Amino acid sequence: MTMSAGKTGGNGKLKIGMYWAASCGGCDISLLEIGPHILELIEAADIVLWPCVADFKYADVAQYPDQFIDVCFFNGGVRNSEQEELARLLRRKSKTLVAFGACASDGGIPALANTKTVEGIFASSYDDNPSLDNPSRVRPQPVTEIHCGELSIPHFCPHVLRLSDIVEVDYQIPGCPPQADRIWEATLALVGGELPARNTAKKVACFDKSVCDECPREKRQVKIKGFRRPHEAIAEPEWCLLEQGFICMGPATRSGCGALCLKANQPCRGCYGPSGDVVDQGAAMISAVGSILDATTEERAREIVDQIVDPVGTFYRFTMASSDLKGNR
Ligand code: SF4
Ligand code: SF4
Repeated sequence: MTMSAGKTGGNGKLKIGMYWAASCGGCDISLLEIGPHILELIEAADIVLWPCVADFKYADVAQYPDQFIDVCFFNGGVRNSEQEELARLLRRKSKTLVAFGACASDGGIPALANTKTVEGIFASSYDDNPSLDNPSRVRPQPVTEIHCGELSIPHFCPHVLRLSDIVEVDYQIPGCPPQADRIWEATLALVGGELPARNTAKKVACFDKSVCDECPREKRQVKIKGFRRPHEAIAEPEWCLLEQGFICMGPATRSGCGALCLKANQPCRGCYGPSGDVVDQGAAMISAVGSILDATTEERAREIVDQIVDPVGTFYRFTMASSDLKGNR
């Protein structure tokens, strides 16, 4: 597959942006993982914003005409006022805005903080943090007076939000991070105008099936007698991990990664978000687990599920912001 320029005016090159909000930087790295295709991308497109690799100023972006950017990839959730402002700005400046990766799509790991209050987060980060020497319990202040004026930092929002909670999103590319093949396919479709129309339900530039559908492991129709964590035992390599008692999110997770973790003998952690029509990935997975417990009484079922360590972090690891729970909201 090759990329051709010419969907936009000016020098004939597309204008592409990549922005990071509340994220780890992995999505930016994953864009580089398209390997030699990066040369095709650079030939066909001008990068007009990519804070991870070049020093673009927000003021420059603000001066772009509206819809100046053909495709803007936005990775990370929205945790503070700066990220919210950029989400609104980039929506205005972009013809197509893409939620890139698990955090922009569903909140990702940062949204697990939605199970805590802001006060709880600040207390554990600045007051009771064993790796921090902070006897005066100093905390970041939104505004600090200095000799020549005021210094301000962004406000910490009460919750981590998805990009779509702030502005309209045209498409999503799921994954933590998205796999290079899926990124390249989606990029080609975006610049070639081959993605479904924005006003259709299909917004996710990926497959609809579940990870189980592309997993090569054998299902033996065995019920679960107990749960264990990946470090507690070495799994049989050919057999379904869920049936072996490892929580594998495959049944409720969108395929597209090629069953990457399963091939490394590790359970799927759910990073591609909910599959197909599933709305709440965690609820769907809890339902899947409940249907294969080796229990005929409620008491026995409770004994088994009590062995699941950190159920919220397990079932909602990547999707708390888009779940029906939504944390403390
Ligand atoms: S539950 Fe996990 S291991 Fe089992 S078939 Fe699905 S993806 Fe494969
Ligand atoms: S197997 Fe699951 S956790 Fe691993 S990359 Fe694929 S979707 Fe993500």
